[in-house]
Amino acid sequence: MVDKTEKTREIQAETAPEKTVKKAAKGSAADQTGSRAGKAGKTGKAVKSAKAGSAEKKKKTGKAGRSAKKTVTEKMTIEERLQGILPLLDARYGTDLKTYLHYNKEKPWQLLFSTILSAQCTDARVNMVTKDLFVKYPELEDFAKADLREMEEDIHSTGFYHHKAKSLIGAAQKLLSDYDGQLPSSIEDLTSLPGVGRKTANVVRGNVFGQASIVVDTHVKRVTNRLGLTDQTDPVKVEFDLYEVLPEDHWILINLQGIALGREICKAPKPRCGECFLTEYCRYYQNQEEDV
Ligand code: SF4
Repeated sequence: MVDKTEKTREIQAETAPEKTVKKAAKGSAADQTGSRAGKAGKTGKAVKSAKAGSAEKKKKTGKAGRSAKKTVTEKMTIEERLQGILPLLDARYGTDLKTYLHYNKEKPWQLLFSTILSAQCTDARVNMVTKDLFVKYPELEDFAKADLREMEEDIHSTGFYHHKAKSLIGAAQKLLSDYDGQLPSSIEDLTSLPGVGRKTANVVRGNVFGQASIVVDTHVKRVTNRLGLTDQTDPVKVEFDLYEVLPEDHWILINLQGIALGREICKAPKPRCGECFLTEYCRYYQNQEEDV
């Protein structure tokens, strides 16, 4: 069985920017731990601890050190919060690994295209558009040779249609020319496709290839920050923080559950804490109570 810290390290090495990968490849395990602490934006306390300790001590600084941290403004450690939060999220929103975007599982590239279209657009709207779009352009070849202006009209209602139309046609062309029409699974290959960023790549990796990864969208970023699972606001830093504290069986789920919670209760800009089932474990709620 693969040790979780090791597994996290593998994912970070695979998904981190090139600079970090090079550093990890050169350095010792202790060096990598120090690098992770810096990249993930740990507190000064965690970084000092990582520097001061022995190599063995540094190895333990990641999950346990971070989640055991409790500042004067925090009543619970991250670990304590998670023990309460995860079962409640599972009970409320379930543990089915499903995507809200509709696609034909025989044509997994459709999920990639739906995810590209979902930028700044609701899943419901994307599903309405792709219902006709995937009939009009049933194969990758149809997207690859599509007329740009016509494609823009076809996807107009999803917003940012100039950019998205170029991305769909460009991604289809590159999948055919470089990947023999198959969807690649690595984050590097996926993000080399036009219009595909880290979030889109992680959606595909999780849903199509079953490669657990954490997708941080606007809901997950907001909800995990309010709950007190991260202090970061940059999506990539939030993602790395969550790899450190979440059990692997919640890496994909946190996106589905975070979206559900964000849409239903923990809304932006104002959360409906009065209706929430997580108040007992929520940092935002606890801090609000103290301010009253
Ligand atoms: S208690 Fe409030 S801030 Fe915390 S998760 Fe619930 S709605 Fe969001």
